[in-house]
Amino acid sequence: MRLLLSLILVIATAVSAFAQSPLDFSLHKLGNDPAGPTILVIGGIQGDEPGGFSAAGMLVSHYNITKGNVWVVPNLNFLSIIKSSRGSYGDMNRKFAALDKNDPDYQSVQRIKEIIRNDQIDLVLNLHDGSGFYNPKYIDRLHNPRYWGQCVIIDQKNIEHPLFGNLDHMAKIAVEKANSELLKPSDKFHLKNTRTREGDHEMEKSLTYYAIKHGKPAFGIEASKSFLTPTRTYYHLSVLESFLKQAGITFSRDFTLNPPAIKQAMFSQVKLALYGGKLQLELENVRKYLNYIPMNKNLANKFEVSKPLLTMVDAPNGYKIYYGNRNLTNLSPQFFEFDDSLSTLRFTVDGRMQEVDMGTIVDVDSHFSVSSQDGYRFNIIGFVAPNKGSECDVTVRKKDLVPRFSLDKSGRIYRVEAYKGDKFSGMVLVRFTNNNEVAAR
Ligand SMILES: [Zn+2]
Repeated sequence: MRLLLSLILVIATAVSAFAQSPLDFSLHKLGNDPAGPTILVIGGIQGDEPGGFSAAGMLVSHYNITKGNVWVVPNLNFLSIIKSSRGSYGDMNRKFAALDKNDPDYQSVQRIKEIIRNDQIDLVLNLHDGSGFYNPKYIDRLHNPRYWGQCVIIDQKNIEHPLFGNLDHMAKIAVEKANSELLKPSDKFHLKNTRTREGDHEMEKSLTYYAIKHGKPAFGIEASKSFLTPTRTYYHLSVLESFLKQAGITFSRDFTLNPPAIKQAMFSQVKLALYGGKLQLELENVRKYLNYIPMNKNLANKFEVSKPLLTMVDAPNGYKIYYGNRNLTNLSPQFFEFDDSLSTLRFTVDGRMQEVDMGTIVDVDSHFSVSSQDGYRFNIIGFVAPNKGSECDVTVRKKDLVPRFSLDKSGRIYRVEAYKGDKFSGMVLVRFTNNNEVAAR
């Protein structure tokens, strides 16, 4: 009796479906504690600061809030994030005092202002990546008062607030916490008070000062741009967790707090689903270009993502999928009408029959076949059936598939597409888990 090594992975519950534009920011409400405090965490106000927005994204996808509440906007300036630009229409963090109604950022700024003012919000954290290393004293060219990296920022020492009015104290505790978990002694955090009210006209236009003026305790967190993204994210989360703790918010996370584990978590479970999940793309290690993806012109804006920093936008020759700053892949579509009549496919996986839901991934150890079904045609992309016959009821091994047709760069994941006449009925992905064979070219 052979061991059953295969299993079906159902898509993780999608975190968001885009109702409006794929570049609108999303708000994620974590925790369910009406009595508890609520912290608002904002990432991506400037699109070229991936440490901050990745940390906010990690909160949404990899933390479980067990007491209190955390509201997260990980992608405030989403257009600038995908363009990896500080601000496509100028610096959004200078638009919170006055803003022309015709400014392209106007709607986003109005929306986030409303969220900040929401009665439930007790504290606001705005996540940034800053150059160099802030130090109140001049140490050397990279460590001095002119820089912003590695600091917790307050606009003033205190604010009138029943819970979190002592900004100076809270910031100091967060700085101490980060300094107890430094990867290198020279990464040291400091407290920076911009004393905004005393005449810092630039900071008066910032998001945190807007919060302060509306009675909300607010802090900026800056990780240094001298580090790669996972290390910046590590420092953000270290500081962030101190604020959660100080506010009495409890949580668990599904990874260990260190840069390699953060990087691994960040790039796991990266999926995009179309058409209510009938077509799902696994984006871990995905190829830069995917051709002939069955799509429907009218429904291309309706997709679901497994992570909030994932999105898909129109491009001249199809669609581009972004994950934060990264253009993960480019889809060249083939347009079809859609057929809704088929919800499962019958597979034999390593000798075992199983029903497979459309839009899922089947793990295969050695071989599989797709059973024929009356009225439907199945295409195994990258497989040429013997004698160009039907692709159903034929045993397929990894060596029978042409690697350049795989979805992933390592030649392990292949598409099985179902059609009824000239309509597309859905797709299942087959993933070979046994890695002994040659990698893709
Ligand atoms: Zn910034």
